[in-house]
Amino acid sequence: MNPYKTREGGATVTVFVPYDCGNNCPFCINKKEYANMEGFSVEKICKSIDTMNEITPRCDFVFTGGEPFANLESLQVMLDHIPATHKIYINTTLPITKNQSVEDVLDFIDKNKQKISYINCSRHLVKYIVESGDEVLIKVKELVPVRVNCVLFKDYPKDKLCDYIERFRKYNIPIQFRFDYTDTTPENLYETKHDMIYNDLCKISTYKGLDGCRMRCGYHFDYKGLEITYHKTLPYSTIVEKDGGTTYDILYDIIIKQTGEIHSDWDGTKLDIDAYRKVVFEKYDLRLLDGVVNGYN
Ligand code: SF4
Repeated sequence: MNPYKTREGGATVTVFVPYDCGNNCPFCINKKEYANMEGFSVEKICKSIDTMNEITPRCDFVFTGGEPFANLESLQVMLDHIPATHKIYINTTLPITKNQSVEDVLDFIDKNKQKISYINCSRHLVKYIVESGDEVLIKVKELVPVRVNCVLFKDYPKDKLCDYIERFRKYNIPIQFRFDYTDTTPENLYETKHDMIYNDLCKISTYKGLDGCRMRCGYHFDYKGLEITYHKTLPYSTIVEKDGGTTYDILYDIIIKQTGEIHSDWDGTKLDIDAYRKVVFEKYDLRLLDGVVNGYN
């Protein structure tokens, strides 16, 4: 095994909550994880959160699933385990069910608004998920920053793109379009000539610039004043690279599974925790590669 290297502050820690989302998006690779709920444990997840906080006290945490908002009580327990030195992002569909009202969700977000840095809400061009109304999204935006995430899967209906963007433009909610990352390769990560999504967005909006690193990139556009990004990322989270005489495993994401097990990649590779305690830090290689983009000098 190679020694680990990661960016200053530490790799992002993605926490898979132990609750299914109830949806069936065709591009979802997490769905099968929830087929067997045996061994899922909030307590073990919290222990692993503590471990990661101890090693990298300033890393970012992302809650994903499944559905983090499927059980607000447990999400509260997990959030309470993360000290204020970390940024917390939550990927959700903002589910409203017969056991969980709009008020329950809004009260929860209001109570935790100091902890939550950003909510990424899935709203796809084709309706793969059960959506709560846009009025919920608007109310959430009054409490914490919100972005809409939209996977443009295979032969998506491009004639619906403008209507989709207008739906969120009227509330000034930024949109991140996403390439199906199971299809991303080092060769097509920065390839634009044959990239259908990139070219469709160029036709309807103004290209502003590009940020990126070894692992992922974001093409930035302006659609009548609304900020749009097109995000591509590789389907793994470790890059093996030589530096001087040493070969390193460079970690971008660390995953806490529903069982609390900590992995260094999405493919089931377990993190060697003792080795990660000796991780070498490098400057984060995400930077502006072209144009002018908010947040970059
Ligand atoms: S909502 Fe998210 S977790 Fe659920 S099926 Fe869709 S992509 Fe997968």
